[in-house]
Amino acid sequence: MNIPGDLAETLRNAQRVAVLTGSGISAESGIPTFREAQTGLWERYDPQQLATLEAFHQAPELVWNWYEWRRELVERTEPNAGHLALVELEDLVPDFALITQNVDGLHGRAGNIGVIELHGNITRTKCSMEGEIVEEYEEDASPPVCPNCGAPLRPDVVWFGEMLPPAAMETASNAARTCDLFLSVGTSSLVYPAAGLPREALASGATLVEINPDETPLTAYAHYSLRGKAGDCLPSLVSALSA
Ligand code: NAD
Repeated sequence: MNIPGDLAETLRNAQRVAVLTGSGISAESGIPTFREAQTGLWERYDPQQLATLEAFHQAPELVWNWYEWRRELVERTEPNAGHLALVELEDLVPDFALITQNVDGLHGRAGNIGVIELHGNITRTKCSMEGEIVEEYEEDASPPVCPNCGAPLRPDVVWFGEMLPPAAMETASNAARTCDLFLSVGTSSLVYPAAGLPREALASGATLVEINPDETPLTAYAHYSLRGKAGDCLPSLVSALSA
């Protein structure tokens, strides 16, 4: 991927860089995006119908088992070249914020520090009543129950219709409003409030760069649109920065 010379220069001069990632960055690790996740056993189910509190109340075993399946899938994958390039970028930029909509934890496993996880993390489990993270529990039921209060346990992810963690959203919004350069990577830019972050950055005068093989509603607003896979574009961007 060829990086425009003036983009490399802008990145080299940037003091504060904010990056927002979506499920596209993990596609090259073999994690299906929601649309692609309807395979095999799960092809009869619409993920948007399973990832809700209502579904968990109505069919807790079904929802828990779907998350167990996704969790096992995530555990078998590794960070890819795109994730690793963001670790390098964190080292090269004076002030760096990585915001993700992904729940797979791959940025942390790649080595990024202080990742802002807007939608939680599928590898964590919490009590559906108390909201506290639970690390040890008896795996004798689907879903298992909280060892403290006996309520069903659930994955620590934000379901459709639920509020994003306010502290994470505030940190993300602050990073978007104060950065010189905002990178939107592998997201369809359709799911709010995360999709509002690049717009906040633009409104504050940042340079907006989008990395996606396809056009999105954000493309028309981006100063640079790198049409390609994150695993190609991000390493090229980092090489251009250090050249
Ligand atoms: P999305 O599925 O709506 O969009 C994915 C985007 O990635 C698309 O625009 C697609 O063109 C692009 N893309 C595909 N392959 C790519 C590649 N190799 N490099 C760069 N871009 C690529 O995903 P979204 O915008 O993240 O929103 C969906 C929601 O689903 C999110 O809220 C997220 O929490 C959740 N989700 C997360 C995971 C995960 O954690 N890996 C997986 C599925 C869904």
